[in-house]
Amino acid sequence: MATKPIYVTQPYLPPLEEFTPYLEQIWKNKILTNGGPFHQQLEKELCDYLGVKYISLFTNGTIALITALQALKITGEVITTPYSFVATAHSLLWNGLKPVFVDIDPLTLNIDPKKIEAAITPQTTAILPVHCYGNPCEVDAIQNIADKFNLKVIYDAAHAFAVQCHCGSILNHGNLSILSFHATKVFNTFEGGAIVSPDAKIKQQIDQLKNFGFIDEITVVTPGINGKMSEINAALGLLQLKYVDQVISRREEIDRNYRNGLKDIKGITCVNKSKSEKSNYAYFPIMIDSDYPINRDSLYQKLQEHEVYARRYFFPLISDFPMYSGLASAKHVNLIHARIASNQVLCLPIYPNILDEEQAQVIDIIRSVH
Ligand SMILES: *Cc1c(COP(=O)(O)O)cnc(C)c1O
Repeated sequence: MATKPIYVTQPYLPPLEEFTPYLEQIWKNKILTNGGPFHQQLEKELCDYLGVKYISLFTNGTIALITALQALKITGEVITTPYSFVATAHSLLWNGLKPVFVDIDPLTLNIDPKKIEAAITPQTTAILPVHCYGNPCEVDAIQNIADKFNLKVIYDAAHAFAVQCHCGSILNHGNLSILSFHATKVFNTFEGGAIVSPDAKIKQQIDQLKNFGFIDEITVVTPGINGKMSEINAALGLLQLKYVDQVISRREEIDRNYRNGLKDIKGITCVNKSKSEKSNYAYFPIMIDSDYPINRDSLYQKLQEHEVYARRYFFPLISDFPMYSGLASAKHVNLIHARIASNQVLCLPIYPNILDEEQAQVIDIIRSVH
């Protein structure tokens, strides 16, 4: 029996006393938002840490996604994955765009580039893939398609903080990438997000868009939104950044323990990392197949009986929510692998403060079912 509830994640918080000097600074200079000193410093430090050219901080990842689509003036149809958090597709509806769902690769659980071309129509203007669980998409294959059909690529990289692929940061692919710094993510500012952009001009447009469209005190050039990150959140980010390497290496350890502990359990497969050079161990998804005595939902229940709250990420598929289920691309036959993953994947608890004993309990419960 677990000693206390174990949730799928628990936010990382740096030592409280280390936050006090940041608060004192804010109280002293009375700059609370609007691109203050901590905001500027965090943008700079994140560029250095992540190895990207430009970052625009946002109030959350969803507003960042919505703004990224605005910045690139995306119209018509956008190809995306049904196997993600619902905000991915919602950002399209908020822009009056039509999502076109394409099935995922059964191994990586990312959008299958081989199926993208068939979904392109004269209305298609962009692809919105997700680096699911922080595993890099097939960025070269996706870029080739985008080049051939003159499409923009916006990566929902909400899971992919600090992930590196063969050529450096995964965030340097596509036209723009968005990050989420929500409490549940590897790096958090309580709420927060960002757009990563490759050049100063688009960064400037994004910064105007997130500040109502102002370019100076009296000039508004575009119907912008309020997407600004506050100084408190930016200060938290600066402090979190000091701990993020530690956080990721502890996550790596937990990932390794699960892989060792689960490897000989029949019917349980750890979802493979795709070929990222540096992972962030954001999630620990397993697949439960018919060689396991009970199905995914029964295991999910069984864990709950022991106060272990694993999560069925991503279930239901986005394409099954009522605002999407009527789309032609939401049909079951179109999304076979996404549906299998959605019915078989369970994300196990992974966060820096999980105790080794707690992790061992999770593994024991899963083993005991056999
Ligand atoms: C968390 C998440 C978002 C939304 O980010 P918020 O900061 O919570 O708005 C978008 N896409 C994916 C894939 C996510 O996991």
